[in-house]
Amino acid sequence: MTDGRLKHFGWGREGEGLTADEVAAALDRYRRLFRVEHFDEAAPPALSEINLRPPRIVPPPALAAHCSSDVYDRVAHTYGKSFFDYARGLAGKYENAPDVVAYPRSEAEVTSVIDWAAGAQAAVIPFGAGSSVVGGIEPRLDGSAHRASVSLDLRHLDRVVEIDRTSRAGRIEAGVFGPALEAQLRPHDLTLRHFPQSFEYSTLGGWIATRSGGHFASLYTHIDDFVESLRIVTPRGLIETRRLPGSGAGPSPDRLFIGSEGILGVITEAWMRLQDRPRFRAGGALKFRDFFSAARAVRAIAQAGLYPSNCRILDAQEAQNTGAGDGTSAILVLAFESGDHPLDARMSRALTCCADYGGTPENPGKADAHREGAAESWRAAFIRMPYAREHLVKRAIVADTFETAITWERFEAFHDRVKAATESAIRKATGRSGQVTCRFTHVYPDGPAPYFSFHALGRHGELTAQWAMIKSAASEALISAGGTITHHHAVGRDHRPWYDKQRPELFAAALRAAKQVVDPQGVLNPGVLIDPETQTSGSRLHRTLNEGRG
Ligand SMILES: Cc1cc2nc3c(=O)[nH]c(=O)nc-3n(C[C@H](O)[C@H](O)[C@H](O)COP(=O)(O)OP(=O)(O)OC[C@H]3O[C@@H](n4cnc5c(N)ncnc54)[C@H](O)[C@@H]3O)c2cc1C
Repeated sequence: MTDGRLKHFGWGREGEGLTADEVAAALDRYRRLFRVEHFDEAAPPALSEINLRPPRIVPPPALAAHCSSDVYDRVAHTYGKSFFDYARGLAGKYENAPDVVAYPRSEAEVTSVIDWAAGAQAAVIPFGAGSSVVGGIEPRLDGSAHRASVSLDLRHLDRVVEIDRTSRAGRIEAGVFGPALEAQLRPHDLTLRHFPQSFEYSTLGGWIATRSGGHFASLYTHIDDFVESLRIVTPRGLIETRRLPGSGAGPSPDRLFIGSEGILGVITEAWMRLQDRPRFRAGGALKFRDFFSAARAVRAIAQAGLYPSNCRILDAQEAQNTGAGDGTSAILVLAFESGDHPLDARMSRALTCCADYGGTPENPGKADAHREGAAESWRAAFIRMPYAREHLVKRAIVADTFETAITWERFEAFHDRVKAATESAIRKATGRSGQVTCRFTHVYPDGPAPYFSFHALGRHGELTAQWAMIKSAASEALISAGGTITHHHAVGRDHRPWYDKQRPELFAAALRAAKQVVDPQGVLNPGVLIDPETQTSGSRLHRTLNEGRG
């Protein structure tokens, strides 16, 4: 990591990224994949070349010191990190840039910013680190009654405020980035152990607001499981939930706000369940004849109640792309960890489950090989992956991922259907074949969370249209084959059409009703999860309720 400011185009901080050798190696692979000699290259505009509309609002003097309308701040808060975002950044399109970026230093300032924005008919977009890949932080105001937007960046709320060692929990401010959070827990010999791939550049509040998925493949899959209580600033006032290890007192207030993606309130802090740092580990990589044999072994492991911390299957192509395999077999990266007890018995039982389906360990007889061979190649590639996208989009390589979950009995047919639909959409959109690969990120006793990556060779000038064709065909396939539009990337604005199909309509009405109560003017994140029009008028809410009754 460098101390530079966050890149306005790309992953991480200025001065950070892939080395020239890493870029060359990646491009070499894509040249072979697409059978081309060279790529058409385009460069994103420099900050000084980006034209923004003049800000439509000005903060009051009391807030001005912690607000900015500088080009860098506005540009860096326009987009998240999806391919769609990068393609528009490359083309220099920043029509939706926020008018003002606010950097509150306290919960009281969060309240003041919301009050000011509401009075100025401006929308407020809660912003963690902007790693959203679903349009969650882009101030798109279409259909809303707002005349301007304020991006509310929580980076200064970054402290671990209190530790309760007895209950093994911590009170933590929401704007803290992953590494700073872990650095503050380390002196207490504690860890949250929630490591999404975006860990370095995402925040606790963002994780809670999007129900992020961390590194645990089973048991503690989502951040939800670690949340003990929350503090949330809503336009109608503060909500604080009670610290409890569990509660059966009606629907959980925490669960209303976990996953609310900034539309119901701004999470300012949370009591989080912490863990002892792991001292015992077991793990390694196994080879399987094919992806489905590996999936059957993983089902057996999940249903045996072994709770591996890592249980990722990479299909043969994904394994090859990441240096974890040679393209002839699927690879399972398996690991167990504990701060309290040895794991040999669990590992040994998991190996038996794998052997039943033809899985062979890369390092037979070695209980812990989780940092060797295929497992280490995968880990290293996984950490560097986020930095590749900015290089690919410049070469018109459409590279994106989408993730879902499905029950085991439908999984194999589902996988084939989604993969075929995406491959066919790539051919239609670009006129040539691309690549669609799959891995598992999380597994449950009743089904896996498959994660698909696709790569296609697009054309500059058409990148967003080509991406949209592929993305919507894949999303359509996910929903029509019975899956979810997202297992952990959230809904944002980009997944709305498919989320709307997936959720029960009366549930949508209940969500709108909740929004109406805590945010009657629809100030917060219009267009995410529900329509902005309904947030201000409430008319659609009543229509839907009446339709529901009929
Ligand atoms: C390379 C890469 C890898 C990724 N890997 C993973 C992964 O492994 N697992 C995973 O789950 N996701 C992953 N993501 C997606 C993304 O990192 C997550 O959605 C993450 O939780 C967002 O955190 P953030 O702090 O960046 O939030 P932002 O992107 O800033 O915001 C996301 C949403 O949450 C809202 N929000 C943010 N902070 C608050 C707050 N304090 N109060 C209320 N609302 C708030 C925003 O309004 C927005 O709707 C990845 C993304 C990238 C680019």
